Amino acid sequence: METSDDVLVVEDDPGIQRMLRLALRSQGYGVIAAQTGEVGLSLAQANAPSVVLLDLGLPDCDGIDLLGRLARVCDAPVIVVTARDQESQKVSALDAGAVDYVVKPFGMAELMARIRVALRRGAQHPAQGGVYEADGLRVDRDARTVTLDGAALHLTPNEFALLTVLIDNRGKALTHRRIQHEVWGYPTTDDYKTLRVLMASLRRKLGDRPSDPRFVRTEVGVGYRFVGGGA
Ligand code: CA
Repeated sequence: METSDDVLVVEDDPGIQRMLRLALRSQGYGVIAAQTGEVGLSLAQANAPSVVLLDLGLPDCDGIDLLGRLARVCDAPVIVVTARDQESQKVSALDAGAVDYVVKPFGMAELMARIRVALRRGAQHPAQGGVYEADGLRVDRDARTVTLDGAALHLTPNEFALLTVLIDNRGKALTHRRIQHEVWGYPTTDDYKTLRVLMASLRRKLGDRPSDPRFVRTEVGVGYRFVGGGA
């Protein structure tokens, strides 16, 4: 498989760095490697990578802070790599603009799938208007109609807004805070109860089971991810 995409890997652990390099090259990606945040920033600026893998546990800088600085020098989507004890950091990273996360130890197949999704959607702005159709679900934004397996679904305005936010970001992990902001225009509260209630009613109408989702997967401790349509 050949691609022209370069992946910038910012990771201070030499073992993980080497493993990522080999795996990415075997998939046809070019690899640019940095072991500190500062070097990563200058390589991002100089090389315009297609995607960035960013370890949040770097010795020289705060990962969340680095996300903001990266966004100013390149427009590549960033997937953060976190350790198990950085649960709260991964949520902050998604809120700060990262498109996805993996937790160490991660499976290489899973990471490659996340990279493909990030490459497909990362730099694009969500489509406004138009029709989404996949997996039996058809959403017409202009007509504001939704059908599932040919039958019309009657969604409330907030359910429709929630569904379109998820579809616009399909394949990506969205935090509760981000979804609240998109649906209500501002983060309503920090307990996300309203969002959970809205999600439950949307799922009911979609016939979606949280334990075996066809459309919306719960990201524990983070938020939700739209997984319909092969995302
Ligand atoms: Ca590290």
